[in-house]
Amino acid sequence: MIHKHPELHTFKDIHIAGIEGKRFDVVIKDGYFSSITEAEPQQNNSTPTGTELWISPGIIDLHTHLAWTDFDHADQLKRDSQQIEAMQAQAFEATLRTGVTTVRDAGGIAPSTVQHLVQQYQQPLRVHTSSDMLGAADARGLKHLEQRMAQIFATGAGWIKIMATGGLGAPTEKVVDPIFSKEEFAFIVRNAHAHDKKVLVHTWGGVTIDWSIQSGVESIEHGIFLTEDQAGRLANSEVAFVPTTSIYRIAADQKGVLALNPIICERAARAAESHSKAIIYAKREGVRIGFGTDYATPSLHGYNLQELDTLIDYGLTRREAWQSATKSAADILGSGNELGQIAEGFIADAVVFNVDPYQAHNAEVLRNSIVSVITGAKEAELI
Ligand SMILES: [Zn+2]
Repeated sequence: MIHKHPELHTFKDIHIAGIEGKRFDVVIKDGYFSSITEAEPQQNNSTPTGTELWISPGIIDLHTHLAWTDFDHADQLKRDSQQIEAMQAQAFEATLRTGVTTVRDAGGIAPSTVQHLVQQYQQPLRVHTSSDMLGAADARGLKHLEQRMAQIFATGAGWIKIMATGGLGAPTEKVVDPIFSKEEFAFIVRNAHAHDKKVLVHTWGGVTIDWSIQSGVESIEHGIFLTEDQAGRLANSEVAFVPTTSIYRIAADQKGVLALNPIICERAARAAESHSKAIIYAKREGVRIGFGTDYATPSLHGYNLQELDTLIDYGLTRREAWQSATKSAADILGSGNELGQIAEGFIADAVVFNVDPYQAHNAEVLRNSIVSVITGAKEAELI
């Protein structure tokens, strides 16, 4: 159940996820947390078992592709526009239903499409956009890049996405080769920042991670082959790391929901193996890690919480994994003063669970324990 923009709602005696041994009375007014006070200890030993509730901040997924309907773009082109729109609306719905109240779309959706979907289908998902990605076809010099970026700025997107290396489509020995020259890369970042846009960089590793750190982008994505030395420099910079760990495990499974061809599965399996090391380095060095899924198909939207499982399998504590999906993610978006915490004055984006989400065995249990999802904003405020 999605509870949109509560005018006045009170939770009595509720747990706040991550705070043990205390309960709270939480009041939401006009879509904001207006008061949070510790509840009076119960006289008659409290709530009957099975009726306890936990509230967590709404989850923030820093890397989705809401507009994409198929793993392979050629397949999307075979669909007609009505079908694509219906599938995109379903992606919004599935994302919200699983407790993700804010996303950063990492390429493919324009702000005008977001407006349409939020309005037409009443799906109050908060979406940060990057419109078109800059990729191999744009590595044609600064003049071309300036024009392309002007088009992206004109869409109203807040982010610029750079495809700095290949991905699952590239052969392993070439996957970290830079797509842009160093000069082009530096220009994109400079030009984006000059226009008050933030920059996210798809990079599997290699020199483009160094360029990202030097030029001060806001986040690097994937970082499959992040080295220990790079992790140390990332930690000392302001650059965040959004690894998107679960997608590679899913892609590696030939019998899994993506059912990709064996070559791609093999590449994904190698990526996953290396990724687990990258996460260890990032954790050890103190890199700011953000939660992102890279989910892009109907079989994946709505299963975003699986990313928590993989982050935990790779060595984050539950607290760290949740932090990456709430407070840290809000900070990475530049919204850390209004999103990502159950705190007075913050936007009331939240998820209510009937089990302790920090104890839930896995994403499946977590997903099935969602009682309601609360979105603080009115639809009109999101567009
Ligand atoms: Zn992506």
